[in-house]
Amino acid sequence: MTSGTPLYRNHVLLLSQSFFIKDNRAELLLHAHKYDFDILFFDELSRFVEAVARDDEGNLYVIDLDALHNMQSDMQDSRKTLMLGELLQRLPGDHSYVYLQSARQGGRFLLQQRLVDSNCLAYAEKPIANDVLVDKLFNLFVQQKRGDLVRMMVLGDAPGLDPDALLRQRIELIPHADAQTLHVRVKEVQPDIVLVTDAEYRRTEALVRVLKKNIEADPVREVVLAQCRPDDALSMNALASGFDAVLPAGTPGLLAPQLVNRANKIRVNKDLIGKDRATGLLNKVGLQRKAQELIRQAAREERPLAFGVLDIDKFKTINDTWGHHFGDIVIKRLSLALGAQLAEGDLLSRFGGEEFVLVFWNCTLEQGWGRLDAMRQAFGAIPFEVKPGEVRHFSFSGGMAAYPACRSENELFLRADAMLYEAKQGGRNRICPAPAPQRVAGTQAAADAL
Ligand code: GH3
Ligand code: MG
Ligand code: MG
Repeated sequence: MTSGTPLYRNHVLLLSQSFFIKDNRAELLLHAHKYDFDILFFDELSRFVEAVARDDEGNLYVIDLDALHNMQSDMQDSRKTLMLGELLQRLPGDHSYVYLQSARQGGRFLLQQRLVDSNCLAYAEKPIANDVLVDKLFNLFVQQKRGDLVRMMVLGDAPGLDPDALLRQRIELIPHADAQTLHVRVKEVQPDIVLVTDAEYRRTEALVRVLKKNIEADPVREVVLAQCRPDDALSMNALASGFDAVLPAGTPGLLAPQLVNRANKIRVNKDLIGKDRATGLLNKVGLQRKAQELIRQAAREERPLAFGVLDIDKFKTINDTWGHHFGDIVIKRLSLALGAQLAEGDLLSRFGGEEFVLVFWNCTLEQGWGRLDAMRQAFGAIPFEVKPGEVRHFSFSGGMAAYPACRSENELFLRADAMLYEAKQGGRNRICPAPAPQRVAGTQAAADAL
């Protein structure tokens, strides 16, 4: 395939000699591709070290310690086997590593201690199945990347919270002054964390119940108490009345790191629940949540939204003809092509297998049609080399709906899906409903080519 965009977002550089993992290299790669990363294999320490030293892309560096058995020390006068100490010493110190070790190695605490103190990001014990290893590496990628903002609403004067420092840790601090209207503001803003100071809690004891008993309250949202003055009775009451945690906040600097840790956990959980691993896009759950937020915002600001559903044409034939793995690559390429044309505030989701949903912010039905149709053309222009020297083009069909004509996420989806059905019935490779004066350009050829 010829395109400038790299197909996989991240890379794992793997140093391993005797190939350890139960199954084979190809299977490991297939799993990795489903999680949106690629693996580069190294069997020489010097080339691995060079590649790591050159790399600054936030990739992962994995070392199978069994590789030591087969590696020779570089020292000229001795042909002895490379020792662990020498290996660790030669690894560039400004990166961190994932070590794969045998259970026997793992049982030795001193060895373990040495590893965790040697730029260790994580360690794993072999034997480990390909899919498990890939899943764990994916989690490390998720934890490493600069993630989505976590929103934290704060009631009261919490000591030592610096909004700019928190923002650098991807936490947006939203102050709120009045306990009596906190529940209204929470409903509107939908923060991930609500932080209440002990002084505010003393004044308005019922506020956490008012927040939590709302049937529409997000069950994942954390409501935490910042305790500036130690008071065990108050802590117990707070926990009994619905606070998720009581955080000590008496000393300046104590509260912020606790909040950062909690926010990191929330971010990882939200990613695992709300995103598709193969493309990094929102999945169905993530889309529903974000689309509902966007509809609320559109209502407040009186702006239109355009909602598109698209589905790759004759995808079964693509799978059947060139294999499931090739089908996956087509899906991945489409996700990159769509992502390249998003504007600030838009949403893009892989809704199901080869079906995607887009929400265009501040966009009418007609404008949305134009944007989705431009995406259709961009995807149709991608040359896929199905075999050496043989290039094919593929297409998708789409359906559009718009807010405020459709009022809810569900209504938007049903309408857009009905329009998608019409586009398929009408011959595919088109977006319905087409704006009245324009006719969809006759690009039937690409659909027929399948
Ligand atoms: P149409 O033009 O009517 O959409 O025809 P189609 O062949 O694309 O039909 P349909 O949308 O019903 O087929 C979807 C197929 O996509 C069925 C399923 O096997 C395949 N599929 C679903 N998810 C994935 C995936 O993640 N990877 C691959 N390779 N195939 C998938
Ligand atoms: Mg489909
Ligand atoms: Mg399809």
